[in-house]
Formats: sequence, C-alpha cells, structure tokens
Amino acid sequence: MAAPTATTSIARPRVDLYSDTVSRPTDGMRRAIAEAEVGNEQAGEDPTVNRLQAMVAELLGKEMALFLPSGTMCNEIAYRVWCDHGDEIILDATSHALHFETGGPGALAGVMTRPVSGDRGIFTGAQVEAVIRPKTRHAPRQKLVSIENTANLGGGAIWPLEQVADVAAVARAHGMRVHMDGARLLNAVVASGISAARFAAEVDSAWIDLSKGLGCPIGGVLAGSAAFIEEAWRFKHQFGGAMRQAGIVAAAGVYALEHHVDRLADDHTRAKRLADGIADLRDIAVDANRVDTNMVYFDVSGTGVDGPEFSRRLMAEHQVRIGAMSASSLRAVTHLDVDDRDIETAIAAIRAVTAEA
Ligand SMILES: *Cc1c(COP(=O)(O)O)cnc(C)c1O
Repeated sequence: MAAPTATTSIARPRVDLYSDTVSRPTDGMRRAIAEAEVGNEQAGEDPTVNRLQAMVAELLGKEMALFLPSGTMCNEIAYRVWCDHGDEIILDATSHALHFETGGPGALAGVMTRPVSGDRGIFTGAQVEAVIRPKTRHAPRQKLVSIENTANLGGGAIWPLEQVADVAAVARAHGMRVHMDGARLLNAVVASGISAARFAAEVDSAWIDLSKGLGCPIGGVLAGSAAFIEEAWRFKHQFGGAMRQAGIVAAAGVYALEHHVDRLADDHTRAKRLADGIADLRDIAVDANRVDTNMVYFDVSGTGVDGPEFSRRLMAEHQVRIGAMSASSLRAVTHLDVDDRDIETAIAAIRAVTAEA
C-alpha cells in the first residue's frame, strides 16, 4: 500500500484526477480572501476565524471548533488530547493516520496504534471488542477509537450510521472515546443525506478538511466539547499551529461552506460516470456500484501494464493525471476543477492506454 505516485512531469495536466487537493481557489473564493476581516487569531481576535469556527461547530453539532493549518494536525491534536504517551488508539489498517501522517501518532501524539482490518476501511464493534486488552499494569491503556468517514483507501466509502453507533457503543463500554477523521465527511453527508451533526453526534471529536473537496487552499477545522477544544488550543500552540491574521485563509473556508458543499454531488455523479465509462473494459477491474463518493479505484493488472506505468502513460500520452496507488491499481478523484468533458477525456484516455497495452 503506497501513497499515490506522482508523475514526474511538472506540466499542468489537461485533466487532473490525482486528488481533490489539486483544485485551485475559485474567483469567488479569491474575492472572499481579499476582503476578509482579520485580527490576531491566537488571541481569539480574528473575526473571520471565529466565524468559521462557529460555522463548523454548528455544522457538526459540537460546542466549539478550532481552525488548524491541516487535517493531519486535526488528527494528531485530537489523539494528543485524548491520550497520554503510551496509550493505544484502535483504527483501521488502511487509515490515513497510519499510512500518510509520517508516523505522527507515534511522533506527535506519542501513542500506540492498533489496526483492525475493516471492509473498505469500515470496521465493526465486534472487531473493536476482539482487540480489547485486559486492564493490567502491563498493557497499554486503550483510550480512543478513530474512524475515517469517508474512508480514503476504502475507495471513498461511507460509514453506515448504525455502524458508527455500534463502534461507538463498544468503545464507550470499555471507557474509550471516539474520534472521526472527517476529511471528506461532507462527501458522506451529501451522498447519504445523513447530516454532519448526526454522524458527529456518535463521536467525541470530529473534523472536516477545507482543502479537499471544499476547494480551499489550506486548513481543517476540529470540533468537540468546550473542554476538548480548550485542550486542543494548548496543543495547537505546542505543535506550532497557532497563527496570526489567519482570517485570510479562514475566509476561504467560510466561502466554501456557503458555496461548495451541495456541489459535491456533481463530483459524485462524475466519479460514477468515470467508473461506468470504463466498466466494460475486460482488462480493467472496477466496481461502479462501489463508487460511493468522489473516488474511483481501478485495477489495471489485466492489461499487463503495472499501475505506475499505466499512470505514466496516461500523463505522457494524454495529459491525464491519475495516481497509482499500488503495483496494480490507480485512483481517480473528482473535484471542483473537473467538469463533464474532462471525465469523457479521462475515459477516452484510459480506453486508449488499455487498447495499446
Ligand atoms: C487528506 C487527509 C488527511 C490529512 O489532511 P491534510 O489536510 O492533508 O493534512 C487525513 N485524513 C484523511 C482521510 C485524508 O484524506
């Protein structure tokens, strides 16, 4: 399992499905940034940051929220707040925190990680129950269960609400808290019709990323109880995440929450169209019925070309960028800089590379 392999070319691709992090701020967002009212964020005096935090607290149905420079910092600060050094977090074997945060749980939060193997990144209460340790002085203390909704390496899969509740009930029965990595929670919300607050009501802390499908340049917002956020503020300073006139970037977040949430449905429709457009290819394995949100994973091993080489050819021959996720698979991610025509271009490119292979 690897991070998506970037193609070496620095030329901007014609169609960029590498990630939903590649989108550029829209003109409206840039205007909101230019016009932002600002103040000293770390003194609580930036009105735009305060507004963004209030919006996210309300969206997630939590008492308070905290603006942070990245989603990674949202995860690591939450882990640090809920755990002491040497404590253990239970999470999925495919989770972002385990693979893409450079060992942050160990290095920054000082915690042990206990992976369980869910289905597409989604595990059950019984799986949590199965790894509960005896409460002896020899065992690490288990403090937190961390879930990822949507599950990135799970293909953008949405946690069923009952399963979040099931996992949370088992966690609570063993004295643990529950954290939700909601980098793409709003994709789950728009696709499922379940509100963000309803999902978040099952967990103690949750966050959304501003720089994924919402299309902002920077940031994440972490939410929880007032006491949790008070502690999170301490670690925000300690981790070097306290800022000054951060309203410049928070303004993009406010703008995105007002203008870029409902349109996530378009990203989902386009991801589905992409999957449908290559589903008949004998040498490509893709399950269009498992495209829940804005990601399409497909396996190219039937073509005889490996994942990184398939990705390289898409870029070199068609200027379509789709990252390789393993020796045999690629991941295409839709976002607000991809339109219907781009999807048709990408389908044609995948078909052409497959035909030549
Ligand atoms: C992107 C991502 C993160 C980290 O967010 P950054 O803003 O890139 O630091 C965490 N979890 C998941 C599921 C992600 O996709």
